[in-house]
Amino acid sequence: MKKFKLNNGTEIPSIGVGVFRVEEAIIAQEMVETALAIGYRHIDTAMIYGNEEAVGKAIKNSGVPREEIFLTTKLWNADQRSGKVQEALEESLRKLKTEYVDLYLVHWPVAETYVKVWSKMEAIYKSGKAKAIGVSNYQTHHIEDLLKQAEVVPAVNQFESYPYFTQEPLIKYCKEKGIYPEAWGPLGAGQTDVLANPVIVDIAKKHSKNPAQIIIRWDVQRGVIVIPKSVHKERLIENLTVMDFELTDEEMKLIDHLNKNQRLGSNPDSFNF
Ligand code: NAD
Repeated sequence: MKKFKLNNGTEIPSIGVGVFRVEEAIIAQEMVETALAIGYRHIDTAMIYGNEEAVGKAIKNSGVPREEIFLTTKLWNADQRSGKVQEALEESLRKLKTEYVDLYLVHWPVAETYVKVWSKMEAIYKSGKAKAIGVSNYQTHHIEDLLKQAEVVPAVNQFESYPYFTQEPLIKYCKEKGIYPEAWGPLGAGQTDVLANPVIVDIAKKHSKNPAQIIIRWDVQRGVIVIPKSVHKERLIENLTVMDFELTDEEMKLIDHLNKNQRLGSNPDSFNF
């Protein structure tokens, strides 16, 4: 598995498995156990997903040493608003049955607190309970504000990105600042026809791959961490099997040009949760 190096020297597997909308504990646990058994070493969860306990159980049951797994969780907005950042992390660690997470992200840029919260994230980083800290759903202007007073530059910004919403300007900006971009909803979150898009289907045929694999490979090649979700073993395997081919520059550009700034999730400047 190709790994990317974060700005503090930590390495992150370029592909992870996301566990959003897998609320039922038994399904989440099975999914993560399966993922670890077939070779995933990077799991993306969040307090609000309600499955940290299941993820923790799966990690324990898997027999994979904790230090081989890159585990991300996120600070929920209510805990950001209340300022109980340390407490929220402790609760996540308890549920995940681990002493530390590899990456702790501020889940959304809550208008009143997205800058202020960062010093608390920095304290967590210094305590060693998060090997890296970052943000999620931050736009360029949020990061600009944060960097004005940050001691620690965020290691990652995780945001929505897929071929109809490529986010090129944000990716470019993050890279300039040493912040690794990470794509959520990389396959269109089951809400678009992107997996049936003729350009992607055509490229997939040429490489004897499927459209999901083409998109995941595109992310890895454009230097974006990617965390596709599936509860099905076959798809989990497919989504990981993208290191045995390469997209040409022309194919990369064809996918880049599918962009139509079509956002599927909430807008970080107007969300109401
Ligand atoms: P996704 O783009 O990964 O889409 C998942 C859907 O794609 C699946 O439900 C399935 O229908 C389909 N799919 C997966 N593999 C496939 C394959 N091989 N072939 C065909 N179809 C396939 O969407 P997502 O789950 O929303 O995003 C991925 C992860 O990103 C989440 O699980 C979560 O960890 C993270 N996320 C983070 C935020 C955030 O605010 N930070 C928001 C949403 C999601």
